[in-house]
Amino acid sequence: MKCRICHLYPDVLNLYGDGGNIICLQQRLRWRGIESEVQRVPIGAPLRLADFDLVFIGGGQDFEQEVLLEDLKHGKADEIRAAISDDICMLAICGGYQMLGSYHETHDGKRFDFIGALDLYTRGSPDRMIGNTVYECLPACGGGTLVGFENHSGKTWLGSSVEPLAKVIAGSGNNGEDGTEGAHYRNVFCSYSHGPLLPKNPGFCDYLLQTALARRYGSAELAPLDDAAEKAAHDAMIRRVTSQAGSGRHKKK
Ligand code: GLN
Repeated sequence: MKCRICHLYPDVLNLYGDGGNIICLQQRLRWRGIESEVQRVPIGAPLRLADFDLVFIGGGQDFEQEVLLEDLKHGKADEIRAAISDDICMLAICGGYQMLGSYHETHDGKRFDFIGALDLYTRGSPDRMIGNTVYECLPACGGGTLVGFENHSGKTWLGSSVEPLAKVIAGSGNNGEDGTEGAHYRNVFCSYSHGPLLPKNPGFCDYLLQTALARRYGSAELAPLDDAAEKAAHDAMIRRVTSQAGSGRHKKK
């Protein structure tokens, strides 16, 4: 058994340690004796997602998202849409999440027409949504709580064919208004959570790995690991964040 992981746009979309999600995915496989390989696919490189089991896309600033537009038009957008329809497992964070929707209109009026693989759109706001977060993951995304860190000005709104990843317990989530965080469509899981997200949320990391391996091999039972340290870090953040909930959520640009 082997897990082939694509790290898409590591050169442009990699904020707040998002690349650490790749390290976490590989390490939790290694601890189980499961082989993995990671291919970094930067701007300009060819992309063939049929070769992969799991795709990761990190976050980026508005101008970095703009840099991607030309590259997406030259085949990557079609490739990503086709792979999502073929149920590839994907984790997209913040800017990478927004890129999967139809567009991102920034607060200063720039409009990035993105790939429209998921029924959602993003509009920039004058307030940046910054801070530690706690979310309740929906059962269809593995359940449990997620702790993370958000920093975005974009407010994302989900269409009818997309479910949220989670409900907001503390933080802003998609838009600071409707109590939703992230998105889930087929095997695509999106979040505004940087940090990186996965090390402090081992259950969600394993849920992604199981989803990716089951698609390739029919089923995948991952042996339990000793997650005492990860759980202690996770629970410490829940205590810290929920005791501060509501303080200084929005920052003027
Ligand atoms: N540039 C986007 C925004 O500000 C995404 C930011 C990010 O990836 N952290 O909303």
